[in-house]
Parts: sequence; C-alpha cells; structure tokens
Amino acid sequence: MADRTDATKLVEIKKVSKYFKVSEGTLKAVNEVNIDIYRGETLGLVGESGCGKSTFGKTLIGIYHPTKGTIIYHTADGKPMEINKKTLFSYSKMAQIIFQDPYSSLDPRMTVADIIEEGMIIHKMYDRKKRRERVYELLELVGLNKEHANRFAHEFSGGQRQRIGIARALAIEPEFIVCDEPISALDVSIQSQIINLLHDLQKKLNLTYLFIAHDLNIVKYISDRIAVMYLGNIVELATSKELYGNTLHPYSQALLSAVPIPDPDKEAQKQRQILTGDVPSPINTPKGCPFAGRCPYVMDICRQEKPVLEMKQGHLVACHKVTK
Ligand code: SF4
Repeated sequence: MADRTDATKLVEIKKVSKYFKVSEGTLKAVNEVNIDIYRGETLGLVGESGCGKSTFGKTLIGIYHPTKGTIIYHTADGKPMEINKKTLFSYSKMAQIIFQDPYSSLDPRMTVADIIEEGMIIHKMYDRKKRRERVYELLELVGLNKEHANRFAHEFSGGQRQRIGIARALAIEPEFIVCDEPISALDVSIQSQIINLLHDLQKKLNLTYLFIAHDLNIVKYISDRIAVMYLGNIVELATSKELYGNTLHPYSQALLSAVPIPDPDKEAQKQRQILTGDVPSPINTPKGCPFAGRCPYVMDICRQEKPVLEMKQGHLVACHKVTK
C-alpha cells in the first residue's frame, strides 16, 4: 500500500458526527470520528450491525450531510477540498459507493448499459458512442461481457448483479470507493470471487477503499488498516497485522474471539469471550465509555469519562484500562 505520509492523505475526517432526529429524541449514529484515509489503501471498518458503519460510509461519500465536523478530500492535484453543498457534485465524481444489496440497488426498469452509463451522463463524460464503448469495457473489467449490456438486472444472479454495481461505481473513474458490506448479501461461494475482483481492480486502477464489513475474516484479508466501531465511535484503529496480533480494546477482543479458526484443535482451545449486556440505545447514549455496560474490565472512571483514541503500543485505542 501507499507510504502513509501527509502527502498521501486522500480523505481527512475531522470530528465527524451524524445524528438523526427521531420521535424519541436524537439518534447519534456516528460520534466525532477522526480518521485519515490514505491514497491506495484499504481501510476496513468493522463492528456489529447497527453500530453506525454504514451511516459513516454514506456520510463520507455525501449521501448524508455530517451533523458536525468536516470532511476534506485531497484531489489528485494535491488541493484540499472541503466537502459541502458547493463541492458535492465535483466530489461525487471522485468518490463512489458499492451498496450491500445488489438486488435493491439496481433499478429493475433500466438495462445494464443504462445503469452503468447514468453516472457518465450526469457528469457529462464522453459522447454517446464513447459512453457505450466504456460500458462494454467496464463489463469486461468486472468479468461480464458486452452481451449483458441490454439485459435487465433481474436476469442476473446476485454475484453478477454485484459486478454490475461495481461497474456502475467505476464508470465515472473515481479514486475513492466506499464498499458498504458488498458481499454480505451473497452466497459464500461467490463472496471470495467478488473480494478478489475488488482486490484486482484496486491494483489496476489505484483505488482507495473504505471496506465496511462485519465479517472479520474478510476484513483481515483485504485491509491494510482496520478501524473498530462501537455505537458510532471508533474504539480501535491499527494495521491489520497489529489489530489481529495485538488486540487491545476489550470490544475488539470480544469480536475477534468470535471468529472461527479453521484449525479444529486451535478452535477447541480458543477462549471465546461472550459479550454480555445489551448494546445501549444510540438515542440515549450513556455517559462515559460507550462499552461500559458490556465490558468485563469496567472501572469507576469508565462510567464517568469517555475515553478518547490515544496511541498505545503502536496503534490507536480508546480505553481507560489500556491507556491509563
Ligand atoms: S474504558 Fe473501561 S469500560 Fe470502556 S472498554 Fe475500557 S475498560 Fe472497558
């Protein structure tokens, strides 16, 4: 992956929060997330369902506007661009998303060619003939072919539909792609094909990914660094090797202990940490550490002061037990 220096930052996420007004109050889906994403890397984002991963991904590419905080995108010519209403259209040419569900994310009334071409039309790219050539190229690139161009999405399998979704995301030649659980709706047999495709495309097109998943095995395979999210907060951030080899946060430890080990002997010896207690409501978030209600190491300070991400043993972790 790219050498991580300031010069290679692609996206700077500064204290970004996303809240939603609901009838019971304010749902705090994402809380003050600070992360830099580097050009050419895959940043994995893991956490349980409903932890805010998807909302964070959608906020990053401009589907949601952050309630607080700033997102800065470093364009190819090195200029920092703050993402706001004025810059959103230009930004949408550089940042795209691959959705989780290839069944609902493709318009059933449009042909595959129309789906892939749509972004190019919006961004006024190429004339009609060239756009059609690009559609054929993109279909080949994702492992389909030009004969598929005039068919409708419902004529394809889940894996093929996700390939169409990938071609659509690539059509306007973005640099940054949020992969929002792109394989969770697919059969296990197809998942590795899509992962390999994304991996190959990254190398070929120099793409940067935020790869959202709850499957920790997949994230480990594809990610350079991994961020662990709990209740809208990043609680640990490290290289893939560091996170799996030296897990520091109690929540990350519990998540990883639930991952099956292929070796049956090692699996039998493994100590699994069962998470107890309920996930607190994101509407009435508790004071202090968001994980305090389920943490086996909870201390008095945990219920009073919210831990912040601090550098410890080579990676960032938000936990009083680790950083005290
Ligand atoms: S801050 Fe306290 S409650 Fe939170 S994870 Fe660390 S030890 Fe557990």
